[in-house]
Amino acid sequence: MSPAAGMDALSQRIPALHAWYRANARDLPWRRRGDAYAVWVSEIMLQQTRVTAAIPYYERWMLALPTLRALARADDHTVLRLWEGLGYYSRARNLLRAARIVVERHGGRIPDDPREFQALPGVGPYTAAAVMSIAFGRDLAVVDGNVRRVLARLTALPEDPRSGEGRRRIDRLARDLLPPGRAGVHNQALMELGALVCPPRSPSCAACPLREPCLGRATPEAYPVRRPRKRRPHHRVAVGIVRRPDGRVLIDRRPYGGLLGGLWEFPGGKIEPGETPARAAVRELREELGVRAEPVAELPPVEHAYSHFTVTLHPLLCRFVEMDPAAGEGREWRWVPPGELPHHPMPRANRKILELLTHRWKEEPPCPTPSPGS
Ligand code: SF4
Repeated sequence: MSPAAGMDALSQRIPALHAWYRANARDLPWRRRGDAYAVWVSEIMLQQTRVTAAIPYYERWMLALPTLRALARADDHTVLRLWEGLGYYSRARNLLRAARIVVERHGGRIPDDPREFQALPGVGPYTAAAVMSIAFGRDLAVVDGNVRRVLARLTALPEDPRSGEGRRRIDRLARDLLPPGRAGVHNQALMELGALVCPPRSPSCAACPLREPCLGRATPEAYPVRRPRKRRPHHRVAVGIVRRPDGRVLIDRRPYGGLLGGLWEFPGGKIEPGETPARAAVRELREELGVRAEPVAELPPVEHAYSHFTVTLHPLLCRFVEMDPAAGEGREWRWVPPGELPHHPMPRANRKILELLTHRWKEEPPCPTPSPGS
């Protein structure tokens, strides 16, 4: 079949795709509202998170911050706390900044102009296309992971869709298939088809409204074509849980602008080659915060995977000795009673350590004492 004939055959099946969507769309909380704020928040949450995992976060968020104006009035702490566990925290901070800009410059109304909307912090072409098409009916094609996979299979795309040429071809195809005036339902239908009928493994081709023109249905799992990826690097990190005699625990704040920026954590850092976790913890505490502390016990290591690397955290209970306040300049840190630790927004890996600590502290006296010879 020529490419043009293939496109014609696909275009003819678009009404069947929309009918399938109307009959099978999941009842998702953001679809019940459908306004631009709801679509925006959900799309940002869904960028790195599965639908089932995002739903409780979305519902919690909307209970606390039901409108854009409520979000604009919220503080950083509240927003990060609501986002905690979703990862990629710059998304939450950008939402907050963007909401404040919408209130200041657009009178609290989310702009329905794609260029104005895309000028807001954290709004890229994908989010702009999703919100503009679903909430305002703008003719913009949305290409997320589900759409990319469906289009790659429909056309038996020979390129990896993550490559430059593959991405260009998918984007062009998505635009060419978009029926004018139907972008909202169309984009959601393609995304839903990818999620429900054409997932990465075991697609249900017999139930697919696009099976007739689909060029990849004989070997769907061969698409999208994948170039091998590099292995993720692995880091070993020492974490110092420093406790004063009054029971308070030291935490510091990750710098804004970096990974997990603005979240609180137990201080520490990478273990150098040939270094033990205890030595690394002592060194990092001294270098970063001017804290002298003695490791007295080691907790079980905590494994965590980020998108671009994996880590093993080695938590060490440490006895506080002294602190040079001048050395911690430029860092935000505080001594917190253990009961207040859960109220601080933290990276998920630190939350795992906190769980270990909670069990340990239930069983042990509040302040560890050094073992003989340590
Ligand atoms: S026919 Fe199969 S492979 Fe093709 S789009 Fe439908 S579910 Fe995916």
